[in-house]
Amino acid sequence: TAVIELHRVTRSYPGGVTALRDVDLSVEHGELIAIVGPSGSGKSTMLNLIGTLDRPTSGRVRIDGHDVATLTDRRLSALRARRIGFVFQSFHLATGRDARTDVADGLLYTGLPRRERERRADRALTRVGLGDRLGHRPHQLSGGERQRVAVARAVAGDPAVLLADEPTGNLDSVAGTGVMDLLRELNMAGTTVLVITHDHEIAGSLPRQVPMLDGRVI
Ligand code: ADP
Ligand code: ADP
Repeated sequence: TAVIELHRVTRSYPGGVTALRDVDLSVEHGELIAIVGPSGSGKSTMLNLIGTLDRPTSGRVRIDGHDVATLTDRRLSALRARRIGFVFQSFHLATGRDARTDVADGLLYTGLPRRERERRADRALTRVGLGDRLGHRPHQLSGGERQRVAVARAVAGDPAVLLADEPTGNLDSVAGTGVMDLLRELNMAGTTVLVITHDHEIAGSLPRQVPMLDGRVI
């Protein structure tokens, strides 16, 4: 069954830019897909809609079986926290906090006690190959390792969908390859993964590509 469904989705911004026009997209559980297109083609707008950070101007967005239009902001936030993990190009890691604390804080929404959150954080960090870096702070980690912490934070709550926006954009090619390999591993373990990229080589290395241009899927 589809975990992401966009039906005739249009998103216009105040001022008149239509960033997405009449877009259809269906992503099944367990897929690994690339949304690929040049700057301005509507990728971020698509990510914001799929990530329930935004609502369409018209058309329907269904995420994990929920029609986004029927949910209150509060329920939408809950759906986002529980079912969607985000990884961005730049590392949103708090300075001064070690990897375990950073990942554990990403689980605050669960209401679990700190010790259990840290246990899950350690498990997620081990999953991304950082089992020996639990107490490291951002400045003690390489760029690739920091991005792995971000991935651990995104998957610690076991989301249905992992959304990665240019996840290798700030990394050298070795670290970038490592992060892409990690996303493939997480996908093989069952997570639906959607990667946004302008890089056709990265997109081509994934099983499915959704090419975008001028707000349309082409
Ligand atoms: P991409 O991620 O592919 O670069 P975007 O979704 O960011 O594409 O942008 C698509 C179009 O929508 C661009 O013309 C961009 O300038 C415009 N746009 C994006 N966000 C906004 C916004 N918040 N307000 C107005 N225009 C926007
Ligand atoms: P990317 O290149 O990664 O898609 P952008 O520079 O297009 O990033 O967009 C970064 C942020 O700025 C996004 O949240 C997007 O919605 C917003 N944005 C992009 N274009 C505009 C615009 N013309 N007006 C207002 N916000 C915009």
